Parts: sequence; structure tokens; C-alpha cells
Amino acid sequence: MKVIVDREKCQGHARCWALAPEIFHLDEEGYITPGDIDVPEGKEQIAGRAVRSCPERALQSVNG
Ligand code: SF4
Repeated sequence: MKVIVDREKCQGHARCWALAPEIFHLDEEGYITPGDIDVPEGKEQIAGRAVRSCPERALQSVNG
């Protein structure tokens, strides 16, 4: 599973990070770090929750 990050949409709500700080990394200003994320095995469920929790729809999950 991968998470595609649309950095332009991120408004720095930090919900993704609050749910899974080991997967989602924020910069000093609280915006998500640009670049797609490879979700480690076993972390798919929490990563999916974080994707759905983003109020800006800045995150999208893709399988594989
Ligand atoms: S939850 Fe969405 S808006 Fe908030 S930091 Fe994460 S990607 Fe950005």
C-alpha cells in the first residue's frame, strides 16, 4: 500500500500525524512532507484511517 500525498491541498491539520506519526511526517510548520509514502506491512489499517481523516483530502491510498 502506498499513500499519494497532494502537498498543495494540505492545510496542516496534523490529523494524519496524530493517528500515525511513524508513517506521516510533518515539516516545521506542520504541513505534510511532500512525496509518496510506502506504508510498512501491518500498518495498512491505521494508514487508511489517517487517509480518511484528512479534511482536505490531501491523501489518497493506492494498493500495491
Ligand atoms: S491530515 Fe491532511 S491536511 Fe492535515 S497534515 Fe495531514 S495531510 Fe495535511
